[in-house]
Amino acid sequence: MYCAAPIAPGVRVAEPPRRTGRGDGAELTLDPSAIAANTRFLAARATRLMAVVKADGFGHGAAEAAAAALGAGATSLGVTSVEEALVLRAAGFRVPILSWLNPVDGAFEEALRAHVSLAVPGCAHLTSVVRAASRTRRTARIHLQLDTGMGRDGAEPEAWPELCRRARQAEADGLAEVVGVMSHLGCAETPGDPCTDRALDLFRTAVSTAAEAGLRPRRRHLAATSATLTDSRTRFDLARVGAGLFGIDPTGTTRLRPALTLTAPVVAVRAVPAGAGAGYGHSWSAERRTHLALLPVGYADGLPRSASARAEVLLGGRRCRIAGRISMDQVIVDTGDRPAVPGETATVFGPGDRGEPTVREWARWSGTLEHEIMTGLGARLRRSVRRQAVAA
Ligand SMILES: *Cc1c(COP(=O)(O)O)cnc(C)c1O
Repeated sequence: MYCAAPIAPGVRVAEPPRRTGRGDGAELTLDPSAIAANTRFLAARATRLMAVVKADGFGHGAAEAAAAALGAGATSLGVTSVEEALVLRAAGFRVPILSWLNPVDGAFEEALRAHVSLAVPGCAHLTSVVRAASRTRRTARIHLQLDTGMGRDGAEPEAWPELCRRARQAEADGLAEVVGVMSHLGCAETPGDPCTDRALDLFRTAVSTAAEAGLRPRRRHLAATSATLTDSRTRFDLARVGAGLFGIDPTGTTRLRPALTLTAPVVAVRAVPAGAGAGYGHSWSAERRTHLALLPVGYADGLPRSASARAEVLLGGRRCRIAGRISMDQVIVDTGDRPAVPGETATVFGPGDRGEPTVREWARWSGTLEHEIMTGLGARLRRSVRRQAVAA
């Protein structure tokens, strides 16, 4: 758990500074120093680090996340579409960018003009990339991608020798340079899972096959966050790390720091008698006289409705349970004996330093992963960046 020691009942803890002015609603604050600290921690466990900033940097903002990671030891960027890569180029990033998961007719000419490297998961993609290289008179920088048992992206082992042979031919024609061989692990969050042993065997064999075909890939890469944290056999030349940058450790073996804090102001307060219902369907009713506070944040902002019965926020220095169903735009919070003050700030989640819930808790309350909460945060949230001092 990320949470600091529980805050004693009744103790008020300083909330982040409140913004004033019209239009202030829920606010999502990014702390880039948390991403930097996580990057340093992960980079120390990798030969080289590619910062995977797909899905808008796991909801943190791709450019902000990339800048924080590159400033702290990452040396390249990874995304799952050419479009995302082009956005990063347009934002001024000059480091190597690798895009995988492209359709066979992907925007490869645009990618090559922007010096974006491409994962090649099979011969059809290779043909398409080579055609784009010939049209743009560029040498495509490619990473041959193998499927080592996930059944997702990448060539099947049987198709690998032919892919290597054709890639070597493309090199000879001056149209491609095979800079990498890559695969992805499906079971790495469970250290010791034999599925990882099998994937490692397949990967090592594929690397040998590539060498026999005359390829000299400088970057062999297999590990993502989980394997980087727990399995040094998967190190090779590069780790592609996403989740860990943002404070997610799927193996539960380390303490990485969450970088996002979601706050919302109290917009209304009321006292209700025992038996009063609240929210759609009155799924909640007051067991005794209590106070309710209304926050302008809901499932359209990414708070999973399935967390309704369990979720809490930090308000007035104390954990308060959500009362009733999470609505699209709002939640009701049961503040017990203490009436909240309109304008007071509630913390929906954060790094946990002040006793506020973490994204990990929200994920548990809704039966999902931190990844899904982070990438599901709503576009209408007001976003800001505020660097916090992080103890090393
Ligand atoms: C998302 C992704 C990664 C990053 O994985 P994390 O577990 O988030 O570090 C690495 N490689 C591939 C192919 C991916 O799709």
